[in-house]
Amino acid sequence: ENTAESHVFEADVARLLHMMVHSVYSDKDVFLRELISNAADACEKLRYEAIAHPGLLSNDPDSRILLTLDADGGKLIVEDNGIGMSRDEMIEALGTIARSGTRAFMERIEANKQGEGAQLIGQFGVGFYSCFMVADRVDVVSRRAGAEDAWLWSSDGKGGYSVAPVDVSEAPARGTRITLHLMEDAKSYASRWSVERIVKEQSGHVPVPIKIAEKPGEEATQLTDGTALWTKSKNDITAEEYTDFYRGVSGQYDEPALTVHFRAEGRHEYSALAFVPGSQPFDLFDPDRKGRMKLYVKRVFITDEAELLPRYLRFVRGLVDTSDLPLNVSREMIQESPILTAIRKGVTNRIITAIEKQAESDHDAFLKIWENFGSLIKEGIYEDFERRSQLLALSRFRTTTSGDGYRSLADYVRDAKEGQQAIYYLVGGSLEQLKASPQLEGFRARGIEVLLLTDSVDSFWVTNAPEFEGKSLKSITQGSADLTQFKKQDEDKPENESAPADVQAFLEYAKQKLADEVSDVRASDRLVESAVCLVAAEQGYDRQLEKILQGAGR
Ligand code: ADP
Ligand code: MG
Repeated sequence: ENTAESHVFEADVARLLHMMVHSVYSDKDVFLRELISNAADACEKLRYEAIAHPGLLSNDPDSRILLTLDADGGKLIVEDNGIGMSRDEMIEALGTIARSGTRAFMERIEANKQGEGAQLIGQFGVGFYSCFMVADRVDVVSRRAGAEDAWLWSSDGKGGYSVAPVDVSEAPARGTRITLHLMEDAKSYASRWSVERIVKEQSGHVPVPIKIAEKPGEEATQLTDGTALWTKSKNDITAEEYTDFYRGVSGQYDEPALTVHFRAEGRHEYSALAFVPGSQPFDLFDPDRKGRMKLYVKRVFITDEAELLPRYLRFVRGLVDTSDLPLNVSREMIQESPILTAIRKGVTNRIITAIEKQAESDHDAFLKIWENFGSLIKEGIYEDFERRSQLLALSRFRTTTSGDGYRSLADYVRDAKEGQQAIYYLVGGSLEQLKASPQLEGFRARGIEVLLLTDSVDSFWVTNAPEFEGKSLKSITQGSADLTQFKKQDEDKPENESAPADVQAFLEYAKQKLADEVSDVRASDRLVESAVCLVAAEQGYDRQLEKILQGAGR
């Protein structure tokens, strides 16, 4: 091609490619999953654009992905009839990394947590470049739907790539053809046995049918039928099928901790298939991160940016498919639609109910969910007023009596001292630090349980959730802790009502000396061994929240 232009990869791409080839994956099979998932995305994008511009489908309305094996030539070809790419789109999509946070991602990989790489990469969507793990040259020929021109992108995955126009007769009528020139030790990816196994294992539920041809030009046979899994009846779906689907939709390679699949009928009609992941997605606390529930309308993918769940459930992966919205609904309109509000409410309820059921039926499985996502669920305590008491009941805590286990607020209330009006808590940076706090002495001595809260979200919800089963939450660092009514465990006589005279005299002296530093000095029951501790005012901020606000420049 005399008109080929050369480009160098953006620095981050070069770095990523280097990592990809040298360290990230131990399991190279995943490259095929990434290419198939891109092909399916391209078909879904076309279906969406074709709602407004049906001409784009011309006389070929059915999406398909075709895998062609070329064992003699050492090649594997992945082709789709999706939206395709223009020249500029190719340069943008296959020469740069658009996503924010890429650098953080690479640093994490380079920190060399082996084995973690494969988990992360799918989630991050740097999937395309993974084909350079198995190929030493990759040719991408693409023709955008409706375009008169076609382009060839070609690279050895080292420093750069070239882009050149190609004759449309050498390109797919529409869509993208990716030819992998397989490395010596990767030739098995041109064998039917391997490819078929990998597709069934990893891409069995891609919603576009996948075909395979054993040689270029040969008749193709169907590997998967592209039926949308969520449209099937629950009874016809195996656990493996759900897991496959979960992996496709989440980009994670673990097992889902919880699967919620249902069809709502009646006033609103929709199907939902949602998963609680088995491990933490790595960008859970990325502030730019939106939810990861996809919205389909009558099996057409519309957007993954509709807020189908409240923010605190952003760890849930899956989709909703509804026939209530018109196909040509604009992405902007969706957010305001009352139908979406009803769907959000329905799906949220079902997910929370499923987690509650898990808590009752399989305690250990539930605790895994709690350990991974409890800090997010607690955001719901102050964000989701309607479900506050439900979320409080679901929450689990470390306490002064929990040991290595967890306690619920129901446990706490059941075991509270007679006459105890408050649920006491202490907020801080770490369990060790909290357990060593002198503030706890008086409570320990009296056998009063204290919640030990260490998530940063804890400082917020405690101030917003005033009570549980009639007991208010109370920080033990705040105001007076009136413990005189409770006996210490090793003593029988009640404590003095007020401090004796010599203590009073000392308090006066201390108050004078510290007048600029503290607002009051009191004798207290909260200490047993230590002589003194700082507490916050009754109406003021809790001490930990005060620290956080100071840190934030308040
Ligand atoms: P992601 O799929 O998460 O966006 P990838 O690295 O897998 O990341 O792909 C990068 C981009 O390349 C895609 O977003 C898409 O724009 C483009 N692309 C890749 N494969 C195809 C394809 N078969 N058809 C159209 N566009 C594609
Ligand atoms: Mg991709």
